[in-house]
Amino acid sequence: MRCLYCHDVIKEEITLITLFTKNEPLCLTCRAALSFKYPGERCGRCHQLVRKKADICADCHVLIDLYPAVNKIYTATDYNEEIKMLMHRYKFVKDYALSEVLALLISFNFKCYDYVVPIPVSSARLKERTYNQTSAVMRAAGVTYTNMLGTGKMKRQSELLKHERLSSTNPFYLLENVKDMSLSGKSVLIADDIYTTGITVHQAADVIKDINFQNIDVFTFSKTQHI
Ligand SMILES: [Zn+2]
Ligand SMILES: [Zn+2]
Repeated sequence: MRCLYCHDVIKEEITLITLFTKNEPLCLTCRAALSFKYPGERCGRCHQLVRKKADICADCHVLIDLYPAVNKIYTATDYNEEIKMLMHRYKFVKDYALSEVLALLISFNFKCYDYVVPIPVSSARLKERTYNQTSAVMRAAGVTYTNMLGTGKMKRQSELLKHERLSSTNPFYLLENVKDMSLSGKSVLIADDIYTTGITVHQAADVIKDINFQNIDVFTFSKTQHI
């Protein structure tokens, strides 16, 4: 068998146990490089590295004030050098097969949510990339998701300066089919690819809160670290 990421042959020792367990499609080297997490103290909410352990970091304080709808934030990996390369290939070189590699790095119980809602991409971006990078990973991971949001956003968050990101108007809106729904008592997980400033997912939560979800959590495949 070959590793799904580096395509090297995975040498497997055949033992009674390996005969009865599912083949692991990532070699140990790739799995270690992709799941590498920077050591240090973290914010208890967004998992940002912080100088001194804190329940809530300075960034989270700002975000909670602006967009109080988000409850918990989860992330699968740090945006380390290997993930950075993977994401580049996945999003800009359009290597769709990498959605399966990302799916393998996620161990998360999506089933405890009533709805999993991917962050949408604008139709212009979708035309260019041909797939929504978040939904594609959900599909690869066998997660049922619901599209509830639309966006007309043209600029990538990464193209905006920090003050532009904070002051930019909310790019998301509720899709027609969910506008009149009332989901009181239900919980939702907003899913996105990379958590950078956190503004994208918080803005999405700010829109989705209008259909009365009891709880809104966030999950991203990766979190950038800025210290
Ligand atoms: Zn490999
Ligand atoms: Zn934080």
